[in-house]
Amino acid sequence: MNMKVLLLFPPQWVPYYPHLALPSLAAFLRSNGVETVQKDLNVGSYNQFLTRKYLRSLKSALDSKFDEFNSKPRLSASPEQQVYSDIFIAKSSLYHLADNIEDAVKVFRGRRYYNAETLNTARKTIENALTTVSIAHYPARLELMSFSMPEYDGKFETIEKLTSNIQGNPYFEYFEKNVLPYVREQAPGVIGISIAGESQLIPALTLARLVKKNFDCHVVLGGYVVTLLADSLTRHRKLFEEYCDSLLVLEGERPLLELVRRLESHQSLESVPNLIYFDDGSVRANQVSPPEPMEGLPAPDFDGLPLQEYLAPDPVLPVLASRGCYWGRCAFCSHNVSYENKYRPHSGEKIVADLEALHRKYGVKHFAFSDEAIAPKVMREVTSRLIEDKTDFRFSTNIRIEPQFTPALCETMHIAGFRVVYLGQESGCDRVLGLMKKGFNKDTAIEVCRNLVNAGIWDHLYIFLGFPGESENDAQETITFLSENASIIRSFNLGSFSLGRGSEVMRMPGDYGIKISQARLDDLAMVYSYAPSSGISSSRAAELSREAWAILSKEYPTSRVLDLLSKEDLLLYLSHFESTDPALTKIKRSPTVSAPGVELTLDSQLKTSPGVFRTTLNFDLPDIMKNLLLNWERDAVPSPVRVLFDPENRKIRPIGPNVSEMLDLLGRGRTIRMIARQLSQRHNIPEAAVEAFCLDALNQLKNEGYLAADKAII
Ligand code: SF4
Repeated sequence: MNMKVLLLFPPQWVPYYPHLALPSLAAFLRSNGVETVQKDLNVGSYNQFLTRKYLRSLKSALDSKFDEFNSKPRLSASPEQQVYSDIFIAKSSLYHLADNIEDAVKVFRGRRYYNAETLNTARKTIENALTTVSIAHYPARLELMSFSMPEYDGKFETIEKLTSNIQGNPYFEYFEKNVLPYVREQAPGVIGISIAGESQLIPALTLARLVKKNFDCHVVLGGYVVTLLADSLTRHRKLFEEYCDSLLVLEGERPLLELVRRLESHQSLESVPNLIYFDDGSVRANQVSPPEPMEGLPAPDFDGLPLQEYLAPDPVLPVLASRGCYWGRCAFCSHNVSYENKYRPHSGEKIVADLEALHRKYGVKHFAFSDEAIAPKVMREVTSRLIEDKTDFRFSTNIRIEPQFTPALCETMHIAGFRVVYLGQESGCDRVLGLMKKGFNKDTAIEVCRNLVNAGIWDHLYIFLGFPGESENDAQETITFLSENASIIRSFNLGSFSLGRGSEVMRMPGDYGIKISQARLDDLAMVYSYAPSSGISSSRAAELSREAWAILSKEYPTSRVLDLLSKEDLLLYLSHFESTDPALTKIKRSPTVSAPGVELTLDSQLKTSPGVFRTTLNFDLPDIMKNLLLNWERDAVPSPVRVLFDPENRKIRPIGPNVSEMLDLLGRGRTIRMIARQLSQRHNIPEAAVEAFCLDALNQLKNEGYLAADKAII
């Protein structure tokens, strides 16, 4: 009996374009005659969260969370004060946000995307919406680039709790209400769930648990994370009882096909390569077989994925020129674990043939190479073929810093359509580059950056501070490197080192002078905390990188682009503006237009600006916000305060009883003179003094945007 395969890509992942995992598997299975359906639940979850209806549905959860915090006897400096502030802002701006969220999504999917100011505003609206979703599921944290549940400590018992936590896991309801009915409709024989990154782990296991409980079909988990965690996963028998039937490690195409064939014919699974499964009371791990030859891998198949629903106005398709990394030695990296340290490039001919086929099929001209690094030799082959075929495509890609990226090759890349190149430079200090085993020095990096920029290609560098053994001086050298080379670095990410599972540093901590705090054989952590015996700590590295970013991002010639765009926007922007603004120099904030300084008079009539409201809080939130800003480590005790809140701008200010009384009298055709007279009589104070007070206070509130003219007579 032929089985239908349903491939699911769980949240959370960036929503700008599809991930390549499912289209690669779907292409292989379909080309072997297997009926395959693929569903991107990541984009589905954004479609659910970023709607007016969904956001409004969070009202009661936010209200009850706020009541809980507002009635506490004290708020700790961390994290309770931050949470209190976040919940108040989220609940108080909820309806405003809900009214604007769908338009923000439309900005990403339409031509307004190419107005950087408008795009930036839309992105902020989406970020605020995701923060609101997070707060409603506190302490879960959902952002455009990540998802985490801070309670996760790498223990299977914690996974058990988080995957059944209806209130705290934002994906639970989405899976239950939207995904399970879909799966029922599809009636698959096999469900494959791909886990490509850490941010998917809890959502993927939540999904796996739900489908395993509700359907009688074979559930198999695969992807980079499964390969990385396989040793530990196999120690948890319950995983195979409640979450899945099997795990597939390493590359999945051939093993998944073999699994389907065995299940169809009710044969034993013992010969399915790369499979780990539960059989006869114990977990069995089958032999690993060599990966499918590159010639046997068809072009990715995106049929069934909603290409118009990603957050981009023009679809961008991910593609691979190779599998694995040809360098494979960087001490902090675990990328090659899922390729068994093998590197297999496609031929230039095959790469370009696939690109042309995808262009014909989907009408797409933008492609993002997802390779960790396209080798110079492959790049030469691909670019010369693209130029020969006179294609009109645009690309982004990662490359490794190599002297072979000469001026001539970079120029050829530009002619062939490469517009953005991401480089894992990591450090601007040769000593640290040596510790990391990067295999190049900063002079080579400068040369490659210059060649790219001179050829008209945008270079984006990934840099981090705090590699084990890196000193304060080393870190400063990197910051100076970024500063001194601003003319040949278009943009960069500056972060801090994290100790990833599977990396050489993690496997040989003694060689890198670190002590890992927690590492059990059965733990499922993806990153570890550690203590270095020398050099800066991870918290110091994070602090330095934040401080340096704050300064550098302002002084860079491209600072406006860094402010307004994310690195994922660069390909489409550079393509869109290539004939009018190829280096995006025209992107700038519109000069701030200060509101005409019309002074109020006693005859002015005012009202609160749309949406602005007054309320009384049990804690002095404006003061708490000051604490948070200045990192003051002091608890807050109840101290009721009256505030004005502006939901559109998400800002708050305290108001005293006199101002509050004055605001009570606004509206109903009253001028400031009439209000002052009433207050003067009520409190028996000379009218002139009250008039002066009212004018001053109301002017200030109007200038801050909390009040607006009631009639155009101010
Ligand atoms: S960091 Fe990049 S270049 Fe280095 S081993 Fe990993 S994938 Fe390869």
